[in-house]
Amino acid sequence: MPALSELESAYKAAAKDSAFAAELSQLQATYIGRPTPLYFAKRLTEQLGGARIYLKREDLAHTGAHKINNAIGQALLAKRMGKQRLIAETGAGQHGVATATGAALTGLSCDIYMGSDDIARQSLNVFRMKLLGARVIEVSTGSRTLKDAINEGLRDWTTNVRTTHYVMGTVFGPHPFPMMVRDFQAVIGKEAKKQILKAEGRLPDYLIACVGGGSNSIGLFFDFLAHENVRMIGVEAGGRGIATGEHAARFAGGSIGVLQGTKSYLLQDDDGNVLGTHSVSAGLDYASVGPEHAYLKDSGRAEYTYADDEEALSAFELLARTEGIIPALESAHALAETIKRAPTLSKETVIIVNLSGRGDKDVQHVARIKGIEL
Ligand SMILES: *Cc1c(COP(=O)(O)O)cnc(C)c1O
Repeated sequence: MPALSELESAYKAAAKDSAFAAELSQLQATYIGRPTPLYFAKRLTEQLGGARIYLKREDLAHTGAHKINNAIGQALLAKRMGKQRLIAETGAGQHGVATATGAALTGLSCDIYMGSDDIARQSLNVFRMKLLGARVIEVSTGSRTLKDAINEGLRDWTTNVRTTHYVMGTVFGPHPFPMMVRDFQAVIGKEAKKQILKAEGRLPDYLIACVGGGSNSIGLFFDFLAHENVRMIGVEAGGRGIATGEHAARFAGGSIGVLQGTKSYLLQDDDGNVLGTHSVSAGLDYASVGPEHAYLKDSGRAEYTYADDEEALSAFELLARTEGIIPALESAHALAETIKRAPTLSKETVIIVNLSGRGDKDVQHVARIKGIEL
């Protein structure tokens, strides 16, 4: 609790400080490459034959996904708090790379917790983190994946809080993390709103984004929440299907529970044990979901659905062929829902899809699934 209270007051002070805002917005422009474009996907729109589809190009942000928006925000905050060290957990390595990047940029030291199974699967990202000057600490307890890496990271933080800031990678964990990460990601929706007003002269009818922990989706949604006519759809990982139990669709297949400081929808058994998950995309493969999404679902303000592995894989290929953009497999889940929905909508309907990341990291994985040797 002292660590969380210190973080909350430091964040509240920073959020009111115009010097902090100026430094962050300078780095957003010159380092991250913001604003990211809002691209009208003409050929995809024609191919699907319905709604007009725009892509918010977070794949063009530095390091290739939206995660950098949060990592840079938290690195600046840690520096301002006088911390010397950043720690983070990572599953596939994307958040570890973003945090190591933020640490290198601000001159802080950096330790990344990663499950031993994930280290073996993601050797390229492990090497990337090391190139960026981070130490990768292997976690060989439990399922040896993301959930255990978060546990170890939180343990380290409570022991070393005087010198260390814990960089949560998504809108999850105890307060103030879900609020703070949302605020750092809200730049996505703020830009998209201005950009769509310029392009179409009006607000969109639909926002569609994939939901892992929920940061890229809430980042897109947040600035539109007050506009009741803008419908919001979050897409979870349906994996091999809800009935198989091999998925990460917390809203379709979960129930209310508590995990890692968060009360939200959770995949758990009748005794409250956290269930294993599966998704073709590592970034959506998590047993729970940010609490603000639970609120948006229960209040009916946003809808949640899922796309399975196969649907995501065919969306991945369709975008590559029709637009020359290889999306992250996570983002391909949002595209899969768009592919189902756009043909049923009028040609005046406007959809913004959040293209949360680029697919370079997934190319080898997709080749393996298709039985192609590289
Ligand atoms: C990590 C990741 C996600 C999932 O995380 P959210 O917090 O739900 O955004 C989605 N897309 C990409 C490209 C990612 O790297």
